[in-house]
Amino acid sequence: MYRDSSTSSIVLFGPPGAGKGTQAGNISRVTGKPQVSTGDMLRAAVKEGSQLGIEAKEYMDAGLLVPDKIIIGLISERMAQDDASQGVLFDGFPRTIAQAEELSEITEISMVIMILVPDEEIVERIVGRRMDPETGQIYHVKFNPAPLDIASRLVQRKDDTEDTVRSRLNAYHSQTKPLSNWYKENETVNSALRVISIDGRGSIEQVSALIEKELES
Ligand code: AMP
Repeated sequence: MYRDSSTSSIVLFGPPGAGKGTQAGNISRVTGKPQVSTGDMLRAAVKEGSQLGIEAKEYMDAGLLVPDKIIIGLISERMAQDDASQGVLFDGFPRTIAQAEELSEITEISMVIMILVPDEEIVERIVGRRMDPETGQIYHVKFNPAPLDIASRLVQRKDDTEDTVRSRLNAYHSQTKPLSNWYKENETVNSALRVISIDGRGSIEQVSALIEKELES
């Protein structure tokens, strides 16, 4: 089985709703690298009511990207923790070229996994998404229904409404998508970097299998 013994990190890249969070658990298990999700970190800060959370909330509720300075601060703190010393799996970060440039100063990236899903599918996926607040497990009302005994405790993320999804998609296309070419260009000059594209339209199991095949090759 694939085990990355290096200290470099992996980036999980893709539009909102591509399944990054869903796939991250499995990739983390396979590679042994802890998942670092800036979205989860920001939601924890909002819940805590910290100054950072209060500031970030306005952007998140509007479907806009949180300013780079806040994100870089969060990541720098997270990467100073012991469990990050062997590299991590970034989920939802970097989302701008400026973030990617800062990241390259903090840790080496050995792989960028791009999960690609067309826009038309994303809205349906996100609007039906539900989370179990006790385990953090993500479900979908149609594609991945939760067991009946926990269905009543599921919650919908505040930014998973149709209007906000459209803003998040705009932010993705204008600010995040250019990063895919940025990483592909980097790959041509950096032999330690692999950029792989995964068709994210299949079932969770199908997408997991495609990713694992790439990890093992
Ligand atoms: P996510 O859970 O990754 O979809 O993130 C939810 C929201 O958190 C996004 O819509 C942004 O407002 C904010 N966010 C998460 N990660 C980042 C990032 N790397 N840069 C800027 N904003 C972010």
